[in-house]
Amino acid sequence: MPPSADPDWQRRVIERAKELDHEHRRHPRSLWQSGAGLALSLHFLRTATRQLLTAPRRPEPRRVEHPGPGQIAVTFVGHATVMLTTPLARVLTDPYLGDFLLGLRRAEAACLHSADAADLNLILISHAHRDRLDLASLRRLPGRAAVLVPPRCASLVKRLGFARVVELAPGQSFEYADVEVTAVAARHEGARGLFDRAWRGTCGYIVRSAGANVYFAGGTAYFSGFEEIGRRLHPDVALLPVAGYQPPVLREDNMSPLDAVQAFTDLGARLLVPVGHGSFPLGYEPLDEPLRWLRQICADRGLSAQLAVLGHGETCFVRAGDGKSLGP
Ligand SMILES: [Zn+2]
Repeated sequence: MPPSADPDWQRRVIERAKELDHEHRRHPRSLWQSGAGLALSLHFLRTATRQLLTAPRRPEPRRVEHPGPGQIAVTFVGHATVMLTTPLARVLTDPYLGDFLLGLRRAEAACLHSADAADLNLILISHAHRDRLDLASLRRLPGRAAVLVPPRCASLVKRLGFARVVELAPGQSFEYADVEVTAVAARHEGARGLFDRAWRGTCGYIVRSAGANVYFAGGTAYFSGFEEIGRRLHPDVALLPVAGYQPPVLREDNMSPLDAVQAFTDLGARLLVPVGHGSFPLGYEPLDEPLRWLRQICADRGLSAQLAVLGHGETCFVRAGDGKSLGP
């Protein structure tokens, strides 16, 4: 019997979701519920306006060499863009390389060395939202790369001239050199925009290599699927989104740091690398709040050694089965 058909499992999942809601309500940072919605809206407008007038910080990109056997390099490029480098392959998630998104200006520019971008083999797209499937960014990447997209998203990418565009539904896999990519479920609405009438899929991905299994969650809210992904696909590293959670209704599609830590626990992964923070204010919370809150939760729960916060352009090397190699 699959766990999802077990009434005890269902009760546990519902109970866990209720506990998370309760913790969010009593957390001092949940100002929305304490009548501070207007203050948060004004704060958002002030942040967005200030950013419009300020050029993004531009860290100097450094080349990331292919690691030796049994290792994988994880590089945070910015927003949800992460580069994974194995001995024989280079993979990029949700490339967003521009400075503006829907009228918002970045606080920190994407940090990817041009030589590494030219060396890409696989591009993973989690869903069709404009911050994840960006045509201008894709045009800057090499046409010989294969692009993996969720169901009903290939038509958006096909005209860009990539060698292969492959739709992967959850459970399906794609192999290239020393990596195998498996699509997994996510809880996120995937329409391209307000007037997109197509029902588009949304995915996370597990990237398996001899170095380690890396889970890129894409865009997702907290959901019962994390436990299942952990049980079946054993991720070592979890790349989890931690921003865009205020006002609370956004938690229908996105995770707060508290949700992400619960997801990390459900997955049974060994290293948590937060993504989605520090570039664009996509929720009403201050831009620096997600990492501050995440660090606090991890400290309170004795998980600090398993948290790897990477700045834009920073890399950590991970090796499977060797806890000592974890971290930047
Ligand atoms: Zn999205």
